[in-house]
Amino acid sequence: MSYKRFTLLCLSAACMLGPALSAAADAKPPRLVLQITVDALRGDLPRRYAHVLGDGGFRYLMQQGIDYTNANYQHANTETIVGHVSLATGTVPAAHGMVANVWYDREKKRLTYNIEDPRYHLLTAGADVDQATEIDPTQRAAKVDGRSPDAILSSTFSDELAVHFNGKSRIFAVSVKDRGAVSLAGHAGKAFWFSKSSGEFVTSTYYYEQYPEWVTAWNARKPAMAYAGESWALIYPSSKYVFGNADDREYETDFPGFGRTFPHPYGAADDKYFTTRLTLSPAGDALTLDFAKTLLDKEQLGQDDVPDYLAISFSSTDYVGHLFGASSLESEDNLAHLDRTLADLLAYVDKKVGLANTLIVLSADHGQPEVPGHLHELGIEDAHYFDTKTLDKTPAIVALKKRFGVGEELIEAFFQPYVYLNHDLIRDKGLDQAEVEKAVAAELEKFDGVSTAVSSTALRTASLRDTLLMRSILRNFYQKRSGDIYVVFEPDVFINDFDGLTVASTHGSPWRYDTYVPVMFAGAGLQPRTLSRPVTPYDIAPTLAAWLGVKPPSGAIGTPLPEVLGN
Ligand SMILES: [Zn+2]
Repeated sequence: MSYKRFTLLCLSAACMLGPALSAAADAKPPRLVLQITVDALRGDLPRRYAHVLGDGGFRYLMQQGIDYTNANYQHANTETIVGHVSLATGTVPAAHGMVANVWYDREKKRLTYNIEDPRYHLLTAGADVDQATEIDPTQRAAKVDGRSPDAILSSTFSDELAVHFNGKSRIFAVSVKDRGAVSLAGHAGKAFWFSKSSGEFVTSTYYYEQYPEWVTAWNARKPAMAYAGESWALIYPSSKYVFGNADDREYETDFPGFGRTFPHPYGAADDKYFTTRLTLSPAGDALTLDFAKTLLDKEQLGQDDVPDYLAISFSSTDYVGHLFGASSLESEDNLAHLDRTLADLLAYVDKKVGLANTLIVLSADHGQPEVPGHLHELGIEDAHYFDTKTLDKTPAIVALKKRFGVGEELIEAFFQPYVYLNHDLIRDKGLDQAEVEKAVAAELEKFDGVSTAVSSTALRTASLRDTLLMRSILRNFYQKRSGDIYVVFEPDVFINDFDGLTVASTHGSPWRYDTYVPVMFAGAGLQPRTLSRPVTPYDIAPTLAAWLGVKPPSGAIGTPLPEVLGN
């Protein structure tokens, strides 16, 4: 029962007549808030692949919980840190400031990774990103090993929980991705993530001066090594799957040693891509689960009357989607594995805390597109990759040179979705910033596959057409970090070059396949419902806050969901 409902109860005669001991006892808040994020889980996927689901995982959430089937982000840049921080804070990047996985820092004159922080080093030596083997281009942008939530500008639900209960709530977040954990732990909680370099779960000095004993013990057990020489194999016979007869397709990524078909070998423990392959498969989620279960037990979450918080972000669905696409045997089987992982987690939480004492919410940081090659097979020809290497930029450069006397030098940096102009050059040449922005945007819009290029001056001065797309770009705009021009590709068009590694699909667009995510609440005595009315993932943090009678995060724009609060 929520505090809200207790308040309502207190308006009843029984409460006014005297101290309603039984009502007060009933009104205990959940002992644990469990926030599950599945990286890149598009809203349709649990239902689309329902034939590979068992009991106790997604089926529990969809059938025993409150399932919002029409939830969409309303910001333009549907990337990992942007979505995770939106889940944590209940607001848009314009308020929380995390406008992209990577932005250009104008003071440092270099690209910066969202949660890098030179002040807080990793606690494990040698756990830093290995530039030689790291395949995540955003991770490769980081210049230092340190990590912290410093760049997150608004408070998170977990921060508000810490404030409300005066530091007595135990607050943790776990993920394979550092940004999947640091985001949800907020400024007050503790975050752990997987280091591909060391094969261990690590943290930074922002959180700890030394590891808790149980973390050292978990890492000493070397659970990742159990996968050496093993493979990712199908759970079911191939006839069970929609894509059972379509394993090998030329547009899937042929990652070294992993291949395009089942079984996908992880390789030997000393292979340089061994731990990377774990993250590209359900093994990454299985390791996250194992670590999270140990954490729940050793940190004694949910064991007293002060509510605790555990956020778990499962990253495998995202990497599998990037490599093979949402419509692939790999994605279909990954969902089957994820479903078993969730069932295992929920059974464990039930045993340790009780699902009746746990408020569960599951969502995703963004969705994902379909692979153009797959759409071509179905006769949808317009889908294609936007190839920056073969792009002929000459006419654009010539046009800018003719008008301003300078061409390519006007562009200081491009990291999706923003183009950053060279402000010093514009000033030195005595050019008008707004005019240059407008001209560059106009040239960008001429490229085949570019839908819209929006200048930031136009955003700041609100001189734009009032469309949903423009609003989503505006919601993404934070002056100190956003670039000068926001580039939107047409639907089903995207860059698939992952810093040298060609992948099958990339999310990040403002289109519906990237904004559409599940929002499911369960546990804590919620009555099952399925709702198709539009909601947003920004509603989650204010809903958790309202449930506990905690004030909403500082930038929250979402609305507490009445069905969850029992209204
Ligand atoms: Zn991704």
